Order: sequence, then structure tokens, then C-alpha cells
Amino acid sequence: MIHSDKVKALYGKDVVKENKDIILSSGNKYLIVTGKSSARLSGALDDVLDVIGDKEYVIYDGISENPKAESLLEASKLLGDVDCVIGIGGGSVLDAAKVITCLKTNKADSEEELYAQKWENKGLPLLLIGTTAGTGSEVTKVAVLSKASGRKSSIHHDMFYGTYALCDPAYTYSQPEKVAISTAVDALTHCNESYFSNKANDKSRGYALKGITYLLPGLRKIREGLTDELKDDLYLGSLYGGLAIDITGTTFAHNVGYYLSENYHVPHGYACAIFQEDLFDFESENSTEYTREFFNRINMDQNEYVKLIDSLIPDYQITIDEETLKQILPRWEDNGSVKNTCGHMTTDDIEKILRKKFVR
Ligand code: NAP
Ligand code: FE
Repeated sequence: MIHSDKVKALYGKDVVKENKDIILSSGNKYLIVTGKSSARLSGALDDVLDVIGDKEYVIYDGISENPKAESLLEASKLLGDVDCVIGIGGGSVLDAAKVITCLKTNKADSEEELYAQKWENKGLPLLLIGTTAGTGSEVTKVAVLSKASGRKSSIHHDMFYGTYALCDPAYTYSQPEKVAISTAVDALTHCNESYFSNKANDKSRGYALKGITYLLPGLRKIREGLTDELKDDLYLGSLYGGLAIDITGTTFAHNVGYYLSENYHVPHGYACAIFQEDLFDFESENSTEYTREFFNRINMDQNEYVKLIDSLIPDYQITIDEETLKQILPRWEDNGSVKNTCGHMTTDDIEKILRKKFVR
């Protein structure tokens, strides 16, 4: 059991089979929400179907990466009467399952209504089963969706906490290397960004540091092939990262990262990792003592830490021209994630970062 006052997260090998009674008592007709392949490849779907036995279920495997608000509105109307939702997959699927759970019991006919979240009825019971060691979505009240405009935007609701999160690290073993690395660096960015959030407190800092401690050994060896023990630690680290951002949210790095995912198809974890060096540069200038304390606590030097993160990110060769830069900067004016970054970050700082990195 992972201790948090918000979520009931059960962690361990065979946690689905060992908690048969939780699954059976949560519903009589299940909606199983998945992506195209991860639920099967991870072994999680077979385990769930074994447990469900003769009870009725419907599988909806239409969730793609960066799920679209529109498609969830459509899907939730088509999926008939069910009384429990089980999400099996990475962050994309879990986020989609969270939203579908609420749309099954509340009305929303448009993207605007979905984002307004005027939900009066309790969502259906929700079981979250993760297959990536990354987003920590299993333990957060957050769902990240793409709007019709193509823009990614997160929504937060207490009903997005799973009734239970059933967290079996073995379900992450089937991640392809690229997914494993990009999701593990996402988890590390959650810990970093949570630490440097204006909402950080002792509890969130504790989760963030614990997350980093679990993640670093696996990240150092991730290209050489990992033992199961290191993979398990990556998963646990990702869950602590989730608990940390659930308290604090993320910083500018996540939000500017969304722009790279939307426009250059950079996977979420890499997109946020690209800006970690800028986060630390900004913080060492603007929150100098706090930053020094962070590196002391993780027992690493800033350069060494940035070098490790950078070594894991593919070289995307992204360039942005002056005109595009001018067009995109307004999206970070009055932006919650920018404001949430320690040290009074402004759009001017975002401009400096983007200019230094991408304008040639
Ligand atoms: P993902 O988008 O859920 O999955 C990436 C790819 O990996 C998919 O093709 C997926 O296959 C595959 N995959 C996942 N697990 C696998 C497994 N065990 N074996 C084989 N293939 C596997 O990746 P993610 O990084 O976990 O989620 C990213 C999303 O979460 C983004 O939209 C991001 O913005 C969001 N996010 C949410 C939170 C939160 O708190 N809610 C926090 C940070 C980020 P399938 O096609 O079968 O799914
Ligand atoms: Fe993330």
C-alpha cells in the first residue's frame, strides 16, 4: 500500500489477482478502457478478465496517445450501461478512463462543457491499472486531454482519483525501450518540477525526493538493460512523482513541453525533459539557496544531473523561426504552470529559453 490520504493505491506483484474481491465488489458490468496493445502485452488485461470471470464486460480499445476530449465525449455515449470503469494502460488511457467515468454519470455535450466540469453526480467506481513507469496518473486527480484546436490542456477533479489504483510493476516490463525511457524521464521531471513548484510543501518535497531516489539507479542503467528490481523501482519512483505533482502541479517545463508534443510529435516525457536544464538554470539564478539544497539532498551536482537527463533525450533538431516565436509566446502569458514555477517566472523568461534553444 502506498500511503496517501487521497488515493488507495495497492502496489505489488500480482496485485490484481490478489485483490479479486475489490474488483468483483466494484461492479457487475465493467467497461474496460485500453489503448491498442499495452493492456494485452503487459498481461494486465488477461489478469483482469480472469478475475472478472463470468461477469459482463465491454472492452473499449479506442484510446490513442494524447487522447482527444472530443473522442471521449463520443466514446462515453456509445459505451452503453456499465457500472464500473477499469482503465488499463499508460497515462493516456488512465486519463481517458478518469474522464469517461465522470461522463457516464454527468452530461457534457461539448468540449467547453467537458472542461467546465459542472459535474453534480458521482462518477462510476474507477479502477486504474498502469502499464508505464511514468506519469503517475494512477495516483493523481489530473487528466491531460487534447482540445479540438490540437492544444493539450489538463483538467483536475477529485472524482479523477481512482476508487483503487492497482499497481503491479510487472505490467511495465513490456514497454518498448523508447517508451520506457521517455516515461521514466517524465517521472523524473515530475519530481524535479514538483520540488520547484510554488506550491511545494514538506510532504510534496518528501515524495519528490523519494521518487528521485527510486528513479536514478534505473535511469543510469536504462540503456544497458535493467534487472526486474530496477524496473520495479522505476515504477515505484513514478508513483511517488505522481503523488508529488498531485500536491503541487508541474512547472513551465511541462507546459512548454506540450507545445513540442503538439507540433513536433515529441513524446511527453522527452518534451518535458528537454526543459529541465533551463529549469535548473533559472532556479539557480533566482532561488539559489533552495536549488543548492535540492542538489545536496539528491547528492548530485547540477551539471552531472543535467548531463544524465540530456543523455537520455534523442536529438530532435527542432528549430523555430522568429515569426512563429512571436505567435506562440502569448500562450504562456498568464499561464498557471509558468506562474507555478519558483522564482517569479514570466513570459520573458520563456522567450529567452525558447530563443536560446530553438531560434537559429
Ligand atoms: P502513453 O501515451 O499512455 O503510452 C505511450 C505508448 O506506449 C502507447 O503506444 C502505449 O500503447 C504504449 N505502452 C504503454 N504501456 C506499455 C506496455 N506495458 N507495453 C507495451 N506498450 C506500452 O504514455 P504515458 O507516457 O504513460 O502517458 C502520456 C500521457 O499522460 C500524456 O498525454 C501526458 O500529458 C499525460 N500525463 C498525465 C499525467 C496525470 O497525472 N494524469 C501526468 C503527466 C502526464 P497503447 O496504444 O496500447 O496504449
Ligand atoms: Fe508528465
